[in-house]
Amino acid sequence: MSAPLGGATLAGANMRATFDAHRAAFLRDGAPSQRARLADLKKLGDAIGRNVDRLAAAISADFGNRSRHETELAEIFPIQTAIRHARRHLSAWMAPQPVSVPLELMPAGARILYQPVGVVGIISPWNYPLNLAIVPMVAALAAGNRVMLKPSELTPRTSDLMAELLAGVFPHDQVATVVGGPDIGQAFARLPFDHLLYTGSTAVGRLVMQAAAENLTPVTLELGGKSPCIVGEDAALPSTVESIVYGKLLNAGQTCIAPDYVLLPERKLDEFIALAVDAVEKFYPTLAGNNDYTSIINERHYRRIVGYVADARAAGARVVEINAAQEVLPADGRKLPPMLVIEPGDDLAIMREEIFGPVLPVKTYRRLDEAIAYVNARPHPLALYYFGGAGTRDEVLRKTISGGASVNTTLFHFAAENLPFGGIGPSGIGAYHGEFGFQTFSHRKGVFLQSRINGARLLYPPFGWLTELILKILKRG
Ligand code: NAD
Repeated sequence: MSAPLGGATLAGANMRATFDAHRAAFLRDGAPSQRARLADLKKLGDAIGRNVDRLAAAISADFGNRSRHETELAEIFPIQTAIRHARRHLSAWMAPQPVSVPLELMPAGARILYQPVGVVGIISPWNYPLNLAIVPMVAALAAGNRVMLKPSELTPRTSDLMAELLAGVFPHDQVATVVGGPDIGQAFARLPFDHLLYTGSTAVGRLVMQAAAENLTPVTLELGGKSPCIVGEDAALPSTVESIVYGKLLNAGQTCIAPDYVLLPERKLDEFIALAVDAVEKFYPTLAGNNDYTSIINERHYRRIVGYVADARAAGARVVEINAAQEVLPADGRKLPPMLVIEPGDDLAIMREEIFGPVLPVKTYRRLDEAIAYVNARPHPLALYYFGGAGTRDEVLRKTISGGASVNTTLFHFAAENLPFGGIGPSGIGAYHGEFGFQTFSHRKGVFLQSRINGARLLYPPFGWLTELILKILKRG
């Protein structure tokens, strides 16, 4: 655990006291005004904007190498987009929403009020350490909450820098950062938050939900899984392959919605492999000294991915390693060459576990039904990608269940603020982004407004012939 930093980085022992201070401040001050929320979001965006270089350097140091462009594209840009979108729409999101009442209840009125739930906990992972901490925070602050953040211990420099920047922007009882590993994470998840959003693996997600259940704390779980790519018969293969390779190799495959594996028409296999080799060599002519190509986060994950490939190779699967310059990649740089694994068996770890690395299994099918059945025989994925024309597209989207989907591209559904982002079943519970994030962190209070002239007293006891008559009318078909 790191030492306290600017009064914002908390040891576990202080966690409960900080939570109590947040709760007391929330009860004292109530929901912040729209003006205050807009100002908070602006301050947050400005602090990130002023520190892009430091943030990119911290993330890169945590990874070994993380492409600066990837950090700007996949961390800074989504944060600034989320802030801009929330600021633009906040007034409409916060406005009480009038709803109609049934004829029997007229002339009363009804409306939905959006209230902050109170104190929100956010537990974030290492793979996009800034984005996955700050974008949920934007939603929680837009909804008027106070926030405690527990970022990943695997990116300590980034976590400390976030803590420092957040402490410079917000009072300690509005936003606080708690650093530490799984033990601190466990204690954090046991705090009686009014909402807890966790992003990370499905296994830890179960533990977080169990801990939250003790307090009946509602959870949003942003989890992982194996996101398939179905290539249709009529897909334009060159652009399809480029998009899959791009989605797979961004952050060296350490992306929750990275295409995990490909399902491809059998007769297209050779062409797919040739195009994939070309695409990788074009995107990454070298690997070792190439700043565009990101390292694997740590030794444990490096060995895990290497192990999947070794097992697949030992079981007879063909492995195509793509290393255009034929470089020797030192293991301590933790850069793994992109690899295709052709037709691995379904019992292998590479087809059972989320890969989270630059390795792409390719499996073939004869009929589209087989590809759909393959996906449906497995846990609902976080994302599904389909490449091809509109006819089969609709069939694939209708017959499969996934958290989200992109058609004829990979990853981009994450970037559209008007789409809910989240999983289903083992890939997650709940969603955020844009208005969905605002709603996730808001209580929708249903309010009934009785009018002065109304028929309610006709239902009061003692019950008699009038009640009978009214019931007859109310029960009509
Ligand atoms: P991680 O190891 O960084 O863990 C995530 C967070 O959980 C960390 O802050 C960690 O300290 C904390 N934690 C660990 N044990 C805990 C416990 N028992 N109780 C409470 N908190 C605990 O990240 P990871 O799990 O390796 O992340 C990778 C996974 O996350 C992948 O499966 C990936 O698909 C998924 N992911 C999902 C999304 C999404 O938006 N759905 C985004 C990124 C990553």
